Amino acid sequence: MPAKPLQPVPPGGRIGILGGGQLGRMLALAAARLGLATHIYSDSAGTPAAAVAAHTANGGYDDERAIAAFAAGVDVVTFEFENIPLAAVDAALTHAPVFPPRRALEVAQDRWLEKSFLSELGLTVAPFAMVSSEADLATAMQTVGTPAILKTRRFGYDGKGQARLATAADAAAALNELAGAPAILEGLVPLAAELSVIAVRGRDGAMACYDCPANVHRDGILHTSTVPSGLPDAVHGEATRIARRIVTALDYAGVIGVELFLTQDGRLLVNEIAPRVHNSGHWTMDACITSQFENHIRAIAGWPLGGTARHSDAVMTNLIGDDAAPWRDLATEANLGLHLYGKGQARAGRKMGHVTRISPLRQPRRNAKDSTR
Ligand code: AMP
Repeated sequence: MPAKPLQPVPPGGRIGILGGGQLGRMLALAAARLGLATHIYSDSAGTPAAAVAAHTANGGYDDERAIAAFAAGVDVVTFEFENIPLAAVDAALTHAPVFPPRRALEVAQDRWLEKSFLSELGLTVAPFAMVSSEADLATAMQTVGTPAILKTRRFGYDGKGQARLATAADAAAALNELAGAPAILEGLVPLAAELSVIAVRGRDGAMACYDCPANVHRDGILHTSTVPSGLPDAVHGEATRIARRIVTALDYAGVIGVELFLTQDGRLLVNEIAPRVHNSGHWTMDACITSQFENHIRAIAGWPLGGTARHSDAVMTNLIGDDAAPWRDLATEANLGLHLYGKGQARAGRKMGHVTRISPLRQPRRNAKDSTR
């Protein structure tokens, strides 16, 4: 049970964030705009978030004492990446409320749990089967078929921890690539498009969605998110209904990213959920009055949600590796929002920043703010 009553955190209050990456950085900037101070807990020093936070604590994510002490110094705790141990959340909960809820983190951390949870909600996911051994993989290939993707159950991100199987002959190589980690086999779905729902739910159950962006990945990493998506209204309506079902089932508070596949035969499948602000929602910083970061802070702090309407069309492009090197040229573009994460060294595959190019609104936004209670 949280030790502190669930009063809204007023201006001057303290937000605790577990994790120090760029998502923590942008959350801290949004919190500062609302007069809230951010405390960052991270296992490394000199993080992107620490550079803009009021206070930083360093320690392991398995150091439950240090996490409890960190939580004692703030009014509410959140997290900015999925691989926070549940025990860390439990330690934080002894001193402060934690949002999004523990259950959302538990489900999102394990692809097997996640797919099972989504299926039990009556949502459609790609065919999947659990793989803990070579024998399991042989059985899974029969039920799921090929082509397929073998994905580690835990600790996969940006396409990491995945091996594709074109035919059954690739099984040994795929298992080898994952080095025996518990996995699921997932049927490869013929995609027409990828989209996501960036939804926010307040502590009072009020819910709002941003327009669904169409997402393009390169090498398993998000490359662009575009609004309007160009997809039919019916797809957006269904996507929003899916997100509402998920956040209601989890009694969620905060921003959630729901990644969806639109199949070539017109079905909408849930790929995965991210119980945090999401890369495909970064465009909201430049194209909406309230960004996903501010709405996450508002939601976890018990504030009313901010408007999610889009005032501009937008294309967000991630700056990965050397993409941020021409920052000077990017800075000359008039309708471009430039966001650099303050990371020292550009490495291949490392997210260094993003840009959002905005243009006048061509279509009205689709998802009206809706209240579920
Ligand atoms: P993930 O890490 O599971 O989100 O996968 C990263 C990207 O790989 C997705 O955004 C898709 O582009 C692609 N992908 C993953 N799973 C599937 C699948 N079952 N069918 C088709 N494409 C997939």
